[in-house]
Amino acid sequence: MFTRASGSVKAVEDVSLTVAAGEAVGLVGESGCGKTTLGRAVLRLIETTGGTVRFDGEDITRLSAKELRARRRQFQMIFQDPFSSLNPRLTVGQSIGEALDIHRLTPDPAARTVRIGELLRSVGLEPEHAERYPHEFSGGQRQRIGIARALAVEPRLIVCDEPVSALDVSVQAQVINLLQDLQRDRGLAYLFISHDLAVVEHLCQRVVVMYLGRVVELGETREVCRAPKHPYTQALLSAVPVVDPDSKRQRIVLGGDVPSPINPPSGCPFHPRCPVAEARCRVELPALREVAPGRFVACHLA
Ligand code: SF4
Repeated sequence: MFTRASGSVKAVEDVSLTVAAGEAVGLVGESGCGKTTLGRAVLRLIETTGGTVRFDGEDITRLSAKELRARRRQFQMIFQDPFSSLNPRLTVGQSIGEALDIHRLTPDPAARTVRIGELLRSVGLEPEHAERYPHEFSGGQRQRIGIARALAVEPRLIVCDEPVSALDVSVQAQVINLLQDLQRDRGLAYLFISHDLAVVEHLCQRVVVMYLGRVVELGETREVCRAPKHPYTQALLSAVPVVDPDSKRQRIVLGGDVPSPINPPSGCPFHPRCPVAEARCRVELPALREVAPGRFVACHLA
């Protein structure tokens, strides 16, 4: 009786995407666009109010907590902040061992120690590092530990939530290359969440661009980056530094911030910031249309 309903916010709406086995799909957009919400919903770390998430054809949104625990091994997450995602009171070996214990993967203590050493080696660290605590490592090393912990249960899909944005630029490339090597060697699938199209361009075969909880462009990363069709993708891409001095890429500076999802703009949600908006953009929501095989764009002008 002391509360009243204050409306609801749709953080993600009408989004449909697939990630094939062994594929890396990038999820790109400014903060507040719903990409992290979507990534967490895929792993059921937050519950959705509608829609389905299918893993190998099975709708995981309908699984009981017990059934979900049994499947969790197959999908893992790597978090943005490698420091807060590791328990400071546990040694690195204990943190990784915890993941093995939850799924009863190596009950034999000697085999468990060997396995932890192997996992640390696979991410470029040494087995001796298992005895140390997280604060004894640099940010890049801590992110490697987070990756080793995710790999411990031999997942098939990893949702990477901005895994390099908290790292120094010089370290970012090393972690991206590590993720790329692991994907190739283990056939992993990634849903790679990032605000940085340059990183996604390097790692992902396909990209999904989101704005205010909706997909605005989707396609092969190479094609989307070569010829972006949605004005928002064009603006994001124009901010990516280009090495080629002859490049004609012009910087498009977007005015304002991403509007609040509590009160989204009418028509096309991007119209208040769109440099080429027309009158109908203010009233008509553009549908996500397939404009070429495998290429989807939500813009009246595409
Ligand atoms: Fe811009 Fe209109 Fe296209 Fe939206 S539909 S991106 S406002 S041109």
